[in-house]
Amino acid sequence: MIVLKTRSEVLQYIHTERRKNNIQVGFVPTMGALHKGHLSLIETSTQENDLTVCSIFVNPTQFNESSDFEKYPRDFDQDITLLESVQCDVLFLPQASEMYSKKAVLSFNFGALENVMEGTHREGHFNGVALVVSKLFNIIQPNRTYFGQKDLQQCAIIHQLIEDLSFNIELIRCPIIREENGLAMSSRNRRLTTKEQEEAKVLYQALELTKSIIQETQNIDQAVTEAKQLLSRTPALQLEYLEVVDATTLQSISDKLKNVEIAICIAAFLGEVRLIDNLVFKG
Ligand code: AMP
Repeated sequence: MIVLKTRSEVLQYIHTERRKNNIQVGFVPTMGALHKGHLSLIETSTQENDLTVCSIFVNPTQFNESSDFEKYPRDFDQDITLLESVQCDVLFLPQASEMYSKKAVLSFNFGALENVMEGTHREGHFNGVALVVSKLFNIIQPNRTYFGQKDLQQCAIIHQLIEDLSFNIELIRCPIIREENGLAMSSRNRRLTTKEQEEAKVLYQALELTKSIIQETQNIDQAVTEAKQLLSRTPALQLEYLEVVDATTLQSISDKLKNVEIAICIAAFLGEVRLIDNLVFKG
């Protein structure tokens, strides 16, 4: 695996390779502290492209809390070993000083797509995401990019970004990879104690319970109420939201569920650590 640290190194390497060999490039942006969820994206990319580029950049502009940015797990040595184990071709490790040599003035507004869930609870988050992803798309110019459904709202935002800015890039959404107990894999899980990791499985249980009640009764309010009761039995857990939305528009739904892709989305704190998860199914 080749490690590139600057925009000019990327331009030299990837773009020369592409011109020489007319290759397809797949791109997986990450913030590092890699786990099997990230690796599944890389593996899908290596199957579908000639060259796979992973970036690791803990992007300061998408953190609304500076302490969350500082405490975000970082483990470059292990990341490199893991990337090599799945035959990633290129690791791009940009520096904040180059990505943000000047403070960006441009800001994004994704309207209804960001006025819900993560957008309302993490002010400025999607502006930071859209900014850094646009920069990375422009530097790498991939044919395909791979994002996890774990960040369902982020997928919708990136879809809109590609559409509105006419990026010539295909967005591939990849399924959520979970621990054996159902907990969605996340870099943030490293910050949970062993006890909290066990307790955190209740998030997935709540999603499954909501889904099964909706399927049985078509009654979203009842499903959400019962799921909240289940969550309340874990006192260490502080629920931020549990919402049932249309998986495409991300707007709340209450009836007319037939044939709609439904997403149940959850965000909660366990101790200091904020976790998100979701479950998508056909109504
Ligand atoms: P992050 O490093 O958290 O920014 O994540 C980088 C990419 O990996 C994003 O597209 C995430 O949605 C995706 N990802 C994170 N966790 C998982 C998971 N458990 N399963 C699948 N994809 C994931």
